[in-house]
Amino acid sequence: MEFDINYLRGLQVLDSRGNPTVEVVVVTEGGGYGRAMAPAGASRGRREAVDLRDGGSRFLGMGVLKAVEAVNKVLAPALIGLNSSNYRLVDRKIIEVDGTPEKSRVGGNACVATSLANIKAAADTMGIPLFNFIGGFKARLLPTPLMNVINGGAHAGNELSVQEFMLIPVGADKFSEALRIGVEVYGGLKKFLKDSYGPGAINVGDEGGFAPPMRRVEEALNALTEAVRLAGYAVGSDVLIGMDAAASQFYEESSGKYRVDGRLLSHEELLEMYLDLVPRYSVAYLEDPFNEDSPAMYGELRKALKGEALVIGDDLTVTREDLVSEYLGKGFIDGAIIKVNQVGTYSEAENAVRRLLTSGGKAIISHRSGETEDNTIAHIAVGLETGIIKTGAPARGERTAKYNELLRIEDYLGDEALFQRGRPFK
Ligand code: PEP
Ligand code: MG
Repeated sequence: MEFDINYLRGLQVLDSRGNPTVEVVVVTEGGGYGRAMAPAGASRGRREAVDLRDGGSRFLGMGVLKAVEAVNKVLAPALIGLNSSNYRLVDRKIIEVDGTPEKSRVGGNACVATSLANIKAAADTMGIPLFNFIGGFKARLLPTPLMNVINGGAHAGNELSVQEFMLIPVGADKFSEALRIGVEVYGGLKKFLKDSYGPGAINVGDEGGFAPPMRRVEEALNALTEAVRLAGYAVGSDVLIGMDAAASQFYEESSGKYRVDGRLLSHEELLEMYLDLVPRYSVAYLEDPFNEDSPAMYGELRKALKGEALVIGDDLTVTREDLVSEYLGKGFIDGAIIKVNQVGTYSEAENAVRRLLTSGGKAIISHRSGETEDNTIAHIAVGLETGIIKTGAPARGERTAKYNELLRIEDYLGDEALFQRGRPFK
């Protein structure tokens, strides 16, 4: 009885880009309280769950009052009285009530906020942290952070085609030490960019990374390498480099080519570009290196890299268990990004993670470029023990909200906390 949902309400709030988003509060009979907010992507995969937006002139068409109404008038009546701790049942009800493959009736934004608020209320009813609710009391692995410190593509007002350049602090024995390394390199990068490109270069993009007026992939990789050196660390051992090309964003349907660094590259030429950059810059992680309709190219790249860097799907796989399973099985990818709002409910995302981890793949719990102060993904990363999280630069409150929660979890676990030095990228 005490786990039964007795209150469920949606509200329109704002995300980190100032766009409206859906917040949901769930309260159980036992007084458990859960609140969650939907994030929003800018570079979205075509097969993602669809957010419901109001259109019209209010909030430039981005309002979510229809999605909030769907929470209050459609989801709430269906979910009140259900046992929140049986979250699979709750999520199945959300899916059933929506009734569309892409969650377009009540909206992916309404679904994700409801599903996450529900697990938080269940954990609170038990009086345990969310990561324990998710992973039991054995969950103790803190994730290695992928820290996006140079923003391009759809996340910045510059001319970099590649969307994200990430630091991966692997030379640490604790999460908090890895985060410190990341912060120090971020500081080194700030100095390098200001000295090399002027004060405007340290303005930040959507994910808190700098958005310098660069045009070429190599400029960004050189800057990262310099920043690591300036902070007193070694690229390759202390810090690795990752890139999310988000290549669907610079793929031209008309020519069948990619517009990178002012050039038009074929699939094969882009593959050659990656093969050239990976060893020269200790790139250990390549996300969405090709457009989402070219899965076989991910496989070609993976074969050619022979394990030198991870090939990861995001727009390609959109957190769907069937897609991660298919592409992992075919050897096209080493793993996938997990964004709960790509698929719409927590349990569907958990299915994708478990499928990846039990098949030898990597699962990277990820934020969106449009975020909120909600820190749920920190708990999901620890609860599911994925070992990797991607949640932006160590700047902007919606990014530090996740890092700070991971610091709290590490402190709470004390000597029990585990961190895998280097491991996730070997
Ligand atoms: C990404 O592509 O990995 C990302 C976080 O961006 P967005 O949220 O815009 O899809
Ligand atoms: Mg991505």
